[in-house]
Amino acid sequence: MSREERKLRKHFEERGKREMRKANKHMSQVRAGEPKPPRERFDSRRIDVDEDHLPERMVVQKRKESARAETALREAWAVEIGPGFCDVLSAGERIRCRTTGEIAIGDKVLFSPERRRVEEVLPRRTVLSRTDPHNTRVERVIAANVDLVVNVVSLKSPPLRPGLIDRYLIAIGKSGAEPLLCINKMDLMTSEEDREPLRPYRALGFPVIACSAATGDGIELLKAALAGKLCVFAGHSGVGKSSLLNALDPTLQVKEGSVSSGNDKGRHTTTSSALYHLPNGAVVIDTPGIREFGLWDVSVADVRRYYAEFEACRCAFSDCMHTHEPGCGVKAAVEFGAISEARYQGYLRILASLGTPGG
Ligand code: GDP
Ligand code: ZN
Repeated sequence: MSREERKLRKHFEERGKREMRKANKHMSQVRAGEPKPPRERFDSRRIDVDEDHLPERMVVQKRKESARAETALREAWAVEIGPGFCDVLSAGERIRCRTTGEIAIGDKVLFSPERRRVEEVLPRRTVLSRTDPHNTRVERVIAANVDLVVNVVSLKSPPLRPGLIDRYLIAIGKSGAEPLLCINKMDLMTSEEDREPLRPYRALGFPVIACSAATGDGIELLKAALAGKLCVFAGHSGVGKSSLLNALDPTLQVKEGSVSSGNDKGRHTTTSSALYHLPNGAVVIDTPGIREFGLWDVSVADVRRYYAEFEACRCAFSDCMHTHEPGCGVKAAVEFGAISEARYQGYLRILASLGTPGG
């Protein structure tokens, strides 16, 4: 091969190599620019992901996320309590839940929408309680977070029981809510003397409304007292709680019972607590009738605070319980008629029920 031929051959070899390099570079650029084939992405919200075909890490993540979704709790408000169930109101939706543990109407709760179960009762702002009628060591919460407790009593049929009013007012004082004494069935009043047992409550400054669900007397006053508040109606059965609700708003159509004839004892007409919205923004909880009202967690000091009319009396002993002590100003005031005998007797009964010596 001549020198000239060798030169030409090298030239073509070099050119060939250059062409190859160029072609390779082009191909790799084309490959790099190609859209990547879609990669299977893990989406925990997809329920059709077959766990058998997922890496273990993803299976664990998927299970964790679905468990978290299941336990996502929502805040709600307990609006009806029945045996074993509780209706909660959350974002305008009423949902029936199972309950575990003590829950009361008016409670703010955390519930699981998936499990339909109340998981936690949030701290209460106010709490109206009594003792369990069958076990005085157990608390029964009548209503939670209410602004106003209306103790509904009737003048007659069933007859007025001042002792029960006292128990309610002491419990309301303890609850943190405001009290209101509502005397219904005033249409049954036959003489001014019928009002006599109510006089001490007004004198002590308790708000008292006398009304009649039957005639409508005093209903506007009651309506105004409830406006914009979360209230609870509590009292003996048959006093007219349901009738009052219907008088306050006839569209509510609350089922009313009738007082059983013969013994004048109210029949239980309401079996579980229920909640009603009035047009003036009041929300009223109606509770089942209560015959016996045991005081829960009430101390002697709470009772003495409630009998405020005793404070003006001078006793020989500064720690006088006004039961058996000599030189007791309270007993003297009762004898003179300055303190109501019924109130004093009620005080003694309540002290006795707390197990106080000398009561
Ligand atoms: P609740 O158990 O407290 O809910 O009592 P109800 O509302 O069911 O009433 C018991 C009975 O008392 C019913 O027969 C009512 O018609 C009657 N009642 C309710 N309010 C009045 C009232 O203002 N006057 C009279 N005379 N009877 C009433
Ligand atoms: Zn005394």
